[in-house]
Amino acid sequence: MTAAYADDLMDYDEVLQRFEPVMGMEVHVELATETKMFSASSAHFGAEPNSNVDPCSLGLPGALPVVNRKGVEWAIKIGLALNCEIAESSRFARKNYFYPDQPKNYQISQYDEPIAHDGYLDVVLDDGTEFRVEIERAHMEEDTGKLTHLGGADGRIHGATRSLVDCNRAGIPLIEIVTKPIIGAGERAPEVARAYVSALRDLVKSLGVSDARMDQGSMRVDSNVSLRAVGQEEFGTRTETKNINSLKSVEQAVRYEMQRQAAAIVAGEEIVQETRHYQETDGTTSKGRPKESQSDYRYFNDPDLPPVLAPREWVEEIRATLPELPWVRRARIQSEWGLKDEEMRDLVNAGALDLIVETVEAGAGAAEARSWWVAYLAQKANEAGVELGELSISPAQVARVVALIGEGKLTNKLARQAVDGVLAGEGDVDEVVAARGLEVVRDDGAIEAAVDEALANNPDIVEKYRAGNKKVVGAIVGQVMKATRGKADPAQVNQLIAKKLA
Ligand code: ADP
Ligand code: MG
Repeated sequence: MTAAYADDLMDYDEVLQRFEPVMGMEVHVELATETKMFSASSAHFGAEPNSNVDPCSLGLPGALPVVNRKGVEWAIKIGLALNCEIAESSRFARKNYFYPDQPKNYQISQYDEPIAHDGYLDVVLDDGTEFRVEIERAHMEEDTGKLTHLGGADGRIHGATRSLVDCNRAGIPLIEIVTKPIIGAGERAPEVARAYVSALRDLVKSLGVSDARMDQGSMRVDSNVSLRAVGQEEFGTRTETKNINSLKSVEQAVRYEMQRQAAAIVAGEEIVQETRHYQETDGTTSKGRPKESQSDYRYFNDPDLPPVLAPREWVEEIRATLPELPWVRRARIQSEWGLKDEEMRDLVNAGALDLIVETVEAGAGAAEARSWWVAYLAQKANEAGVELGELSISPAQVARVVALIGEGKLTNKLARQAVDGVLAGEGDVDEVVAARGLEVVRDDGAIEAAVDEALANNPDIVEKYRAGNKKVVGAIVGQVMKATRGKADPAQVNQLIAKKLA
């Protein structure tokens, strides 16, 4: 039994004194193609179970796969963005396995002839330094269907009494991106893992080939971790942790495995090559199944599919369509906006970059756009426990608020109320301003009347002011603001008072 050490963790600093971590990341990205990888069924998410199916995805006898050209093109695109070599000819293989959610009982994948190989991705760590992660290969395959386990706790197979099969996902194109062993990260291994997955996610999103949502499974990460004694040449035995649903969890899963394995090794336990499951609830991993070795899958070339040819002209055509890559774009924007490294990092980490860019595109100044998203709106998102991008206000609406401030129609305070109204679903910015009566009172007559009234009601203050105590004017301004229900421009009120008392 291995349960004896399940809860034993070694102190992180001690782990690093004794061991060096080695990692390997396997990331599956679901491509957002119209149709499946080998058949014409829709590849869209969210349809009625088993409605996006066809003889191929149901594994019916005699059904023949046809390769999705877009899927190949996008695989090449990802490969190029990862600085990989693109194979002129690659091949599909059958990975044989009992898949209750893949009726063919094999998965079409690529084995010894992947479409892309030998690349790298330079990732930026929290302190701004770069770490190069080498890519072993990026290959094409198809997704399996989805099982829903019922009767047990929280949808898990454990304790379930029955399972439902949905083949909608079976056959959706997947790209699996596998790193070479990542060594030399040392104490920053968990951070490197997170930064790598984060960079990869941004990359595929910017290529427009996947929405790469870890929470919805369109991007899935398995993290392999092993330890070797400091100074030792050979790698230790790795475990492969699955079920990782967020960037934070990637980091935690690596850290946990390092601490768990170290405690086990020191206690004389042997690390076994196995899959482990990450538990979101407490940040631990638990034992899964012993890992199959490659030979268990009895890979062989799929006789139904010819080699995939990627003529150089086509590869170059695809290369020419690569967009500005996220880190290049980020560096450009940072210098355009004149931000310090940490200001830029905070804004990126807050998920505000694209929102600010869109707000600027909608006409706002960069400084104003940035200030709204990283200050007031960030606070609102925080209060509501949602991501910035999930707030029910659009960049265009924020730009409209900024414009109204610029025109002097809203003060900052009124603008925040306008934003509150939009967030509360009261309508568009101008509708909220009209409905809540927020517009700054520009009517000099109305403000002047309010000023006159406030002065008449406070002869004592006027006297003090005339005697040289200019600070008391604040009380008058306050009364005018109150009388105009906050809609007067304080600067204008101040000027009027000064003029009248001069
Ligand atoms: P599998 O099919 O078993 O998942 P892959 O080759 O697809 O194997 O992925 C294994 C990943 O683990 C790769 O990223 C590889 O670089 C990495 N890896 C290999 N050996 C080790 C090791 N001893 N420790 C940590 N990572 C490793
Ligand atoms: Mg693998």
